Amino acid sequence: MPNVYNWQLGREMTYRFEEARPQRQAGAVFDTNKCIACQTCTMACKTTWTSGKGQEYMFWNNVETKPWGSYPVAWDAQVLDLLGPQSWDGDVYAGKTIFEAAEQGEYHIGYLPEDIDYAGPNRGEDEINTILTEDKYYLRFPHDAWFFYLPRICNHCTYPACLQACPRTAIYKRPEDGIVLIDQVRCRGYRECLKACPYKKVYYNHVTRISEKCVLCYPAVERGFLTRCMRTCIGKIRTFGFVSPPDKAREDNPVDFLVHVRKVALPLFPQFGTEPNIYYIPPIHVSSMAFLTMVFGPGVERAIQTYRNAMEGNDPELLGVLVLNVSTDRIIHRFRVADGLAYGYDDQGEELVRVPLKEPTIVRPAFDPSLSVYRYNVT
Ligand code: SF4
Ligand code: SF4
Repeated sequence: MPNVYNWQLGREMTYRFEEARPQRQAGAVFDTNKCIACQTCTMACKTTWTSGKGQEYMFWNNVETKPWGSYPVAWDAQVLDLLGPQSWDGDVYAGKTIFEAAEQGEYHIGYLPEDIDYAGPNRGEDEINTILTEDKYYLRFPHDAWFFYLPRICNHCTYPACLQACPRTAIYKRPEDGIVLIDQVRCRGYRECLKACPYKKVYYNHVTRISEKCVLCYPAVERGFLTRCMRTCIGKIRTFGFVSPPDKAREDNPVDFLVHVRKVALPLFPQFGTEPNIYYIPPIHVSSMAFLTMVFGPGVERAIQTYRNAMEGNDPELLGVLVLNVSTDRIIHRFRVADGLAYGYDDQGEELVRVPLKEPTIVRPAFDPSLSVYRYNVT
C-alpha cells in the first residue's frame, strides 16, 4: 500500500490510494466551550436532508454529551478497542491507525453497528463523568465532575476510510473542495463504508437500500454560503471555511488561523488516521487531561492555555476570529482585527461583516423625559 503523509500524526502512514489532496479543503472548527446542546444544528440538518422514508433514524449532524453520550452507541469505545494501544511521542503518533491495524488482506479495521445501536440518539445526555459524592464538589475548578457537548458531522476526511472501503467506487472526494459524497446511482448498499468509517457517519437507508451521508450542504458551499448546521448554530460555536495543510496555511484565513497559527483547534481522534477536517476547541473546564488527549490528541493543554489567554483579553486576533462565528451566512475567507473590530471578507476581498470585539454596555437613564416616565433596568 502507498505511504501518504498525515500531518495530524506528524508522520507518514499507509493508505490504499496515493496522496491526492483537493485544490482546497472545506473544513470547520467547533468551539466546544460554547455549545449548549440545543440541537438546533441537528434539526436544521434533519429537516433539510433526512426527512424522507428510511431516514428516520439518521442524524447527519448530532450532538453528544461526552464522556457517555454516543450515537450509534459506544461508536468511539468500540473503534478505540479495535485499535489497540495508542501513544504519542511528542507530536508524533506512535501507535497504529485504523489502516495500519488491519489484518492481512484487509484495508482497515472496523465494525458494523447493530440496528439497536441507533435506538437512543440522546443517550448519556447531560450525564457527568462520575457519581457526585460529598467530597466531589463542583465549586472546584477545573471540576472533578464534568461533561461537555460534542457536535459531530462527517469529517470529509483527507483519507476517507469510507471511500477506500467501497467495492463499487461509489464514494468520491471532490477535487474542488474536498467534500466526500456517495454516488447514489452507483451505490448498491453493501455497507462496507458503514463498517469502515471510524466516526460512524455513514447511514444505511433500509427503504432505498443504499447508503447516505452528510453532503456538507454542497449547493450552499458552491455559492459561498455556510451549511445549514453552521448558519443556524445558536451558540455561534462554528467557524466554517477552508483548511490548508500546515505548509500552505494563511494567517488571515479564520480556519487556518485556529488550526495552524494559534493551534487552538484540534482534530477528533486523530489516531484513527483519516485526517478529519472538522476541528474542535477543547473544553477548558474538564479536569481529565488523559481523556481530552485521547479524544483530541497531544495538543490539548497548549490549546486550552491559548484559549484562556484570549478570554483574559490578551489575544485580540483570536477573540476576533471567534466573534466572527456565524455573524453572517456567507463564508468568511479572510479576516482582520483593527481598532476593536473584527472584519470578515469573502474570497474576492469584499467586506461581509464587522463585529465589535466587546459588545457595548448600554445603561438607560431611569427617567425618560420624552414620555415623562420612569423605567427600571431589570436585566
Ligand atoms: S467521517 Fe467517515 S464518512 Fe466522513 S469522510 Fe471520514 S470516513 Fe468517510
Ligand atoms: S446549534 Fe450550535 S450551540 Fe446548538 S447544539 Fe448545535 S453546535 Fe451546539
